[in-house]
Amino acid sequence: MAVAVDAAAYRELESGFTGELVRPTDASFERLRKVWNGSIDRHPALIARCAGADDIAAATQFARRTGLPIAVRGGGHSFPGLSVCDDGIVIDLAPMKGTTVDPEARTVRVQAGALLGELDRATQPFGLAVPSGIVTHTGVAGLTLGGGIGWVMRKHGLSIDQLSSVELITAEGERVIASEAENDDLFWGVRGGGGNFGIVTAFDFNLCEVGPTVVAGPIFWPIEQSPQVLRFYRDWIADAPDELMTIVMHRKAPPLPFVPPELHGKLIVGVVCCYTGPVEEGERVVRPIKDFGSPVLDLCVPKPFVDHQAMFDPSFPPGRWYYFRSCDVAELTDEVIDITVEHTRRIQSPLTSFPIWQLGGAVARVGDGETAFNGRGGGHTFNINAATETAEGFDVEREWVRDFWSALKPFHTSVYTNFLMEEGEERIRQAYGPEKYDRLKALKRKYDPGNLFRLNQNIPPD
Ligand SMILES: Cc1cc2nc3c(=O)[nH]c(=O)nc-3n(C[C@H](O)[C@H](O)[C@H](O)COP(=O)(O)OP(=O)(O)OC[C@H]3O[C@@H](n4cnc5c(N)ncnc54)[C@H](O)[C@@H]3O)c2cc1C
Repeated sequence: MAVAVDAAAYRELESGFTGELVRPTDASFERLRKVWNGSIDRHPALIARCAGADDIAAATQFARRTGLPIAVRGGGHSFPGLSVCDDGIVIDLAPMKGTTVDPEARTVRVQAGALLGELDRATQPFGLAVPSGIVTHTGVAGLTLGGGIGWVMRKHGLSIDQLSSVELITAEGERVIASEAENDDLFWGVRGGGGNFGIVTAFDFNLCEVGPTVVAGPIFWPIEQSPQVLRFYRDWIADAPDELMTIVMHRKAPPLPFVPPELHGKLIVGVVCCYTGPVEEGERVVRPIKDFGSPVLDLCVPKPFVDHQAMFDPSFPPGRWYYFRSCDVAELTDEVIDITVEHTRRIQSPLTSFPIWQLGGAVARVGDGETAFNGRGGGHTFNINAATETAEGFDVEREWVRDFWSALKPFHTSVYTNFLMEEGEERIRQAYGPEKYDRLKALKRKYDPGNLFRLNQNIPPD
C-alpha cells in the first residue's frame, strides 16, 4: 500500500471479510480504482469489494480505527468522482447485485451495487419498473440517494417517491432500517440527502406499471432550426399529459448505426420522447412534434422500454473526460432560448451534449417538505455536459460549459445535488435551500457527528 496502514487492523479486517480486498500491488487494482469520469485519477490505499452488509460494517470499522478516509462506490457515476479517493479506502459495493422481485406485491428489494439496467432487466419481464435514470450503467444507490430523475418520473415520481425502506450501516457500524415506520427522520434524509448518513446496503421499492412497450425515441432537426423548435416545443409541452416525458438535446450527431452518415458530426437539435401509457395514445400525443418542420431523422416509435432506457448508453461510456454544470430553470423564455441557441452553436467536441429535462407531473405533486430532495417545482433541468476522449481539447470544452452556465445564471432556480461537481458548501446549501439544509445538518449530527461519510455532497455536522 502507498500509505502505511495499521497491520493489526488490516489482519482483523482480512480475517472475517467474505468479499475481496484489493491492494495497489494486485493485478486488478488499476482497473478497479477507475471510475466513470476518466478525468478523475485517484489512488486509494485499499479497495474493499464487499459481498454483503457484514463486509460493509467491517470495512467501516477498519476505516474508523485506522483513520483512512472512506469513499463509497455504488455505480461509480459521480460526476466529480466522489466514489474514489487518494490514500483512503474505497468501499466498493459492485459485487452486491442481488435483486428480488415480488410481482404480486409489486415490490423489489435490490442490493446497493446494482446498476439501473440490471434492475430494469429484473422487473420488466413483469411489465413493472422502478422510476430511475436514463443511462443504464448508472448505480441505483447514488442515483436514488440523490432523488432519481428519469423517463417515467412525470407519471410515477422520482426514484425516492417509490422507495419504501432502506437498510444502512451507520458510522457506528450498526445496521438500521429507515422507513416511514422506523427511523422516519433518517428515511426523510436519505430521500435526497445522499450518502451523508451511512452506507445503504439494500433498497426496497414499490414497482410501477411501465411498458414493456413504450412510444419513445428522438426526432432531430438541423441546429439552424433550434430557435423555432424550442419555441414550438415550449408551447407543445405546456399541457403535456403526465405519461409524456421529454428531453431536448443539442449535440453533434454521433456516428451510430441508426444515424445516416451524412449527419455524422453535424450539430443537431433533438426532442427525445418517452410516452409511458398505451401505444396508440402515445402515437397520437407525439404526432405534433413529429410533424413540426422538416426533421432530418425520426426514431420515435413503439419499442421495448429497456431498449429506450439504454438509448443514451453509447453516448456516455466510462473513461472519457467529462466536465459538467447544471441548473434548474423555471421556463424556456425567449431570453433563455436565445442564450441556448447562442451557446449550443459553439459546441466543438463531437462528444459534448446539452440535454434539457422536462420536470413537472407527479414529481411536482409530492409535497416539497416530504423528502430532502429540493426543486420539485422546477420547470426544466439543464445539463451542460462537456466530454472529450482524452485530456486533449478538454480545457476548451470546460470553458464552454462555464461560460454557458454563467450566462444562464439570472435564470437559475435550484440545482439537483446529483448534478453538482465539487462546488463547495455554499452551493450545497443553495441546492437544498436553508430550511432543508439545517434539517439535514441536525440529522448529520445525530447519525454521523464525526463526519466519517464526507466524500459526497457533504453536509458537515457543525
Ligand atoms: C452517464 C450518467 C447519467 C446519469 N443519468 C442520471 C439520470 O438519468 N437521473 C439521475 O437522477 N441522475 C443521473 N445521473 C447522476 C447520478 O444520479 C449520480 O451521478 C449518482 O451519484 C450516481 O450514482 P452511482 O452509484 O453510480 O455513483 P457513485 O459514484 O458510486 O456514488 C455517488 C455518490 O453516492 C454515494 N453512494 C453510492 N452508493 C452509496 C451507498 N450505498 N450508500 C451511501 N452512499 C452511497 C457515493 O459515496 C458518492 O458520494 C447520471 C450520471 C451519469 C454519469
